[in-house]
Amino acid sequence: MPNALSHRQQLFYNHLAQTSDFPLALDIERAEGIYLYGQDGQRYVDMISGIAVSNVGHRHPKVLEAIQDQLDKYLHLMVYGEYIETPQVKLAEALVKTIKPHPLPLPGEGGVVPISSPPFRGGLGWGLDNVYFTNSGTEAVEGAMKLAKRFTGRSEIISCFNAYHGSTQGALSLAGAEFFKRSFRPLLPDVHHIRHGVIEDLDKLTTRTAAVIIEVISGEAGVRVPTEEYHQALRKRCDETGALLIYDEIQTGFGRTGSFWAFEQYNVVPDVLLCAKGMGGGMPIGAFIASKEVMSVFKNNPILGHITTFGGHPVSCAASLATLEVVQDTLSSRRELSITEKGELIHSLLKHPKIKEIRGRGLMLAVEFESFEVLKPIIDRAIQKTPTGVITDWFLFCDNSMRLAPPLIITEEQIREACAIILEVID
Ligand code: PMP
Repeated sequence: MPNALSHRQQLFYNHLAQTSDFPLALDIERAEGIYLYGQDGQRYVDMISGIAVSNVGHRHPKVLEAIQDQLDKYLHLMVYGEYIETPQVKLAEALVKTIKPHPLPLPGEGGVVPISSPPFRGGLGWGLDNVYFTNSGTEAVEGAMKLAKRFTGRSEIISCFNAYHGSTQGALSLAGAEFFKRSFRPLLPDVHHIRHGVIEDLDKLTTRTAAVIIEVISGEAGVRVPTEEYHQALRKRCDETGALLIYDEIQTGFGRTGSFWAFEQYNVVPDVLLCAKGMGGGMPIGAFIASKEVMSVFKNNPILGHITTFGGHPVSCAASLATLEVVQDTLSSRRELSITEKGELIHSLLKHPKIKEIRGRGLMLAVEFESFEVLKPIIDRAIQKTPTGVITDWFLFCDNSMRLAPPLIITEEQIREACAIILEVID
């Protein structure tokens, strides 16, 4: 904590629940595009997008316009699922379309989708055509877990070591590190862990397994990119056992890895898809997406099997639809570098003897150093650099690697600016 506190700092430390003894406590006045501006005039390049949220940058004009438009119509009207709210239904339609058209349901014809033969289809043979809106990522995880248990009639859930899926008690049960869970037990029973990307561990899935919840690319483990073979084997094992495959694309979705969804790069389709974070363009929203057949179990036994007051808030949905369109535009634009090329540019610029490795896909990157002790001062100095600082971070389960996840709209010139600052502070 600084010695002489400003009034705002006093309020922050005294009245805001703290989650650690060392918050960044940057005092931000406004944000625009890839930049945050401090009260003191300091400018920061946001190279982490508020942890994979501001994919379209801060205050994107199309997102602001959509929000403004919706403000003039209505805010909350009724609890989720009762009224027809235009922003919700339009967003649901747009989300379903991102998952590519699918043919008529072919239950039982599950399995790996051959690389060359879209349209995509999940293992159940049903398309992902039904969206349940939530307020956050962890709520999407909770909803998906309930859905899997109710649909399969089974209780076992499998997740990965070094995974993070949220902080509510169900999602926390999935966390792949005892350190975060120990003090809050008892948590959910019948949760087991496998190693991400390790095919041999898939034997742990059995006919007792309701679902596997897994990130396509393991984020908080320090951006670990598995092989296509792994995801195909995972899909196959889920089909053999009848377990639902739930992809948590809360970090990887909405263009982050260079395609709208990361799973598109693996030619495997989940039974349930989770999104949040980048989805709202800076507004709170999440969703779990499944087939109408799977989702219909929430309607009976019991009726109202999953309900929420604010899930799919109309302003958040309006912002999300605009965000989705901007992301699609960014993905298809030939006006500038693609997201993959931007990632490659970062790879090529960040050459330094202290950098051991750069991992990732698109603009979801981890830059590895020898240790946290080497990395932490680099992160601190980058933020403090004047007149322009660079905001980076490390990972929950990988503290020797620098997190880089800039807004997807970052330009080549801005990438060069940020990387030059990072290299300067490494020296
Ligand atoms: N899943 C993943 C992969 C995440 O990265 C996060 C957030 N870091 C969550 C779930 C939880 O999302 P939220 O913080 O919105 O609850």
